[in-house]
Amino acid sequence: MALSGKERQRKYRQNHPDKVMRRAENSKAKHVALKAQVLTYYGNGKLACVQCGETRTACLSIDHINGGGTEQRANTKLRSSNAFYRWLVKKGYPKGYQTLCMNCQFIKKAERGEQGKRNASKPILWRGL
Ligand SMILES: [Zn+2]
Repeated sequence: MALSGKERQRKYRQNHPDKVMRRAENSKAKHVALKAQVLTYYGNGKLACVQCGETRTACLSIDHINGGGTEQRANTKLRSSNAFYRWLVKKGYPKGYQTLCMNCQFIKKAERGEQGKRNASKPILWRGL
């Protein structure tokens, strides 16, 4: 009986652990490089939060300046951050985004009254923008 796709993959992983590991490392390195590239662009040339200057990349992310991230994710089917970064590059770095750390994202959300519910029609009460 022929092996199913999943069984074939499992067998391949067992027989070629070195190749599988190398591929995973390459893919992770590519993701890290892409994230750094996109965050630097939207950080105005710095790999840092545009609001507070935070540089630890683990907590940096792309902020939708006027909100609407949830709707965008639903409309474009961009499920992962990697897919979103690739989309931004492909679109030629569209306007309307900025690099923020998670603290600043939460503060912005709280100030906009976005906590947990969609409220894109509220005015932006975000200092410095
Ligand atoms: Zn920040």
